[in-house]
Amino acid sequence: MATLRQSALAMVQARPRIHVTPPSSKISDYFGSNVFGTQQMKETLAPSVFKKVMEAIDKGSKIDTGTAEEVASAVKTWAIGKGVTHYTHWFQPLTGTTAEKHDSFFDMYAGMEKFKGSALVQQEPDASSFPNGGIRSTFEARGYTAWDPSSPIFVFEKTLCIPTIFVSYTGEALDYKTPLLKSMESINEAAVAICQLFDRDVRKVSPSLGIEQEYFVIDKALYAARPDLVMAGRSVFGHTPARGQQLEDHYFGSIPTRVKDYMMEFEVEAHKLGIPVSTRHNEVAPGQFEVAPIFEEINKAVDHNQLLMDVMDKVAEKHGFKVLFHEKPFAGVNGSGKHNNWSLITDTGVNLFQPSNSARENLQFLVFLVATVKAVYDHADLLRASIASASNDFRLGANEAPPAIMSVFLGETLSELLDELEKNGNVKIEKGDNMYMKLGISKIPEIILDNTDRNRTSPFAFTGNKFEFRAVGSSANSGGPMTTLNVIVAEVLRQLYKDIEKELNAGKEKKIAIVDVLRKYIKESKKIRFEGDGYSEEWAKEAQKRGLSNLKSTPEALDVYTKKSTKELFEKHKVLNHVEVHARHEIELEAFMKKVQIESRVMGDLALNHIIPTAILYQNKLIENANGLIGLGLDHSAAVDSIKEISKHVGNLQTLVNEMTEARKQLNKEDDVTKRAKGYQSKVKEAYFDKIRYAVDKLELLVDDESWPLVKYREMLFIR
Ligand code: ADP
Ligand code: MG
Repeated sequence: MATLRQSALAMVQARPRIHVTPPSSKISDYFGSNVFGTQQMKETLAPSVFKKVMEAIDKGSKIDTGTAEEVASAVKTWAIGKGVTHYTHWFQPLTGTTAEKHDSFFDMYAGMEKFKGSALVQQEPDASSFPNGGIRSTFEARGYTAWDPSSPIFVFEKTLCIPTIFVSYTGEALDYKTPLLKSMESINEAAVAICQLFDRDVRKVSPSLGIEQEYFVIDKALYAARPDLVMAGRSVFGHTPARGQQLEDHYFGSIPTRVKDYMMEFEVEAHKLGIPVSTRHNEVAPGQFEVAPIFEEINKAVDHNQLLMDVMDKVAEKHGFKVLFHEKPFAGVNGSGKHNNWSLITDTGVNLFQPSNSARENLQFLVFLVATVKAVYDHADLLRASIASASNDFRLGANEAPPAIMSVFLGETLSELLDELEKNGNVKIEKGDNMYMKLGISKIPEIILDNTDRNRTSPFAFTGNKFEFRAVGSSANSGGPMTTLNVIVAEVLRQLYKDIEKELNAGKEKKIAIVDVLRKYIKESKKIRFEGDGYSEEWAKEAQKRGLSNLKSTPEALDVYTKKSTKELFEKHKVLNHVEVHARHEIELEAFMKKVQIESRVMGDLALNHIIPTAILYQNKLIENANGLIGLGLDHSAAVDSIKEISKHVGNLQTLVNEMTEARKQLNKEDDVTKRAKGYQSKVKEAYFDKIRYAVDKLELLVDDESWPLVKYREMLFIR
């Protein structure tokens, strides 16, 4: 009888290609066709209603009941015209995925399709089915979802989806969107104050975000034949193939045809949803790819990234694929990240991270640049915590770039400029001097973009006109890290403004006051700047000397949430209160534990039920063979060696799995969540995962290929 692996491989061979024809040769013909966007609203709403909605989007003003009724009615008509029967509030609970609660438009009593304004504005999903970190009071499990008009309504899978925030009955945030929206407020306020020192016309500053999404693709039959991929999202066993990444011929190489078809189709679907995806290419590892959209306002960018992941998942099914967003589905090859390209843009159209040919604007640029560097320095641990997860640990803590140490890469030009500025601390500026010239600020090249040396090992790099936070995991909801980034930069900007004010009050000229404060900040945050190889052993040592944290595991990284200063920071910026910070800490610890627990169980099950029995069957064959050889009076030492070798690994495996199971049992008695999570890290993951894998991977090399039950790396990784 064929093994599951063999039948899966046969299915891959027979898998047909799915040809894709875009609806039109021009993307503009169908871009946003599944979105109830500004254009649709303008066309379907009364001018006064449209104006109110636009105000709500721009200024965050409240939408009254009458307006909601009008929008609901228009959106219902639009959706029904597209064959839609159901609607749902679409939200982003702390599970990391998106959630929906579908309701039908059909009103049985009225005998017709209805969609009330109140249903548009608010829904009440059962909050108890989502992580709440202890916020949910025992008598009230309800949660509320509330419409976020700043993110457009869309149709997905024949359902009208309304982007919403998700809060508890008592008003605490249970999602990623709520704090993100609040953090936008906070950074807006802080950044506008600074901008006004330079340009009185600036009224609003919004963070922008472009998310590069890495992912792996694997045939769905092979996926189904790997219980570890199905259960844990990553392969816990598997010997690395002879032909791995070392050849590097995959990067930017030609994309396999089936994958190209898949990409084309999910791009079409994304475009219909108004997601501006633009680039596609192979990544470093075999089977790994990347998709990147054009950047958007941060809230929309996060929603679009979450939606894009859903779209990619659905479309993959049709093409006989499974898309893997796990940070490290395969050992020995590159992991996946989600590079978050972040910048700040004013309502006057200025990107605050864009150097210009005007010296005055460059001083403003430097303020924002230095503030961001200082923010990463001051709050490195918070930033680290914002990207902590069991799956991202396989990237950050392991032998791979980026490291768990937070640092900022600026590139040669800017590094030298900041050094210069710091050194020139004592340069006296005389009346009539060209201060910018004297301090070297006038010579920032307008286009740093092309001469930024690309340092791919940095977790946080300046890339010409934006910062790129590369340490974010591929499966993460970017809302988490982006909320933290907004808050920490807002915090520094606020302080910076106060410091400048102080200098001004002391009678200093404005430019001089600003430069003096910048010098101080540059000096104070110097240690976080690193231009070298973030992946190297030397950097780990150097970072330690500098006093920078290197928090390798999630439970360790999350400790920062227990600090008083953390709670005060988020509270001060009105982004999260004490209770919400505490809840998030618990939720993330729980999520971490569950993941490690699942992996550990999968390892145990596979080892005991698949690997060991297979190894023993093969061993029996060898014993038969050895006996046969003895009967013939021939040398049987090779067979005996193999038998011994197999016995050794099988024995080890059995012992290790039993010990690990016992360790889990003991830990589950621990009541303190932090201790339990740390125990799962050290006493389960660190103590057993590598050892168990070692034994299994050795057996894979010993046992005959034909009877090996698990799809091998060389089979999973190479799509042709
Ligand atoms: P890379 O070389 O890192 O692949 P790309 O030019 O492909 O860089 O851009 C990566 C992402 O950065 C894209 O999503 C792009 O839209 C986004 N991006 C470009 N400029 C900005 C900006 N000012 N703010 C935010 N994101 C930006
Ligand atoms: Mg990039």
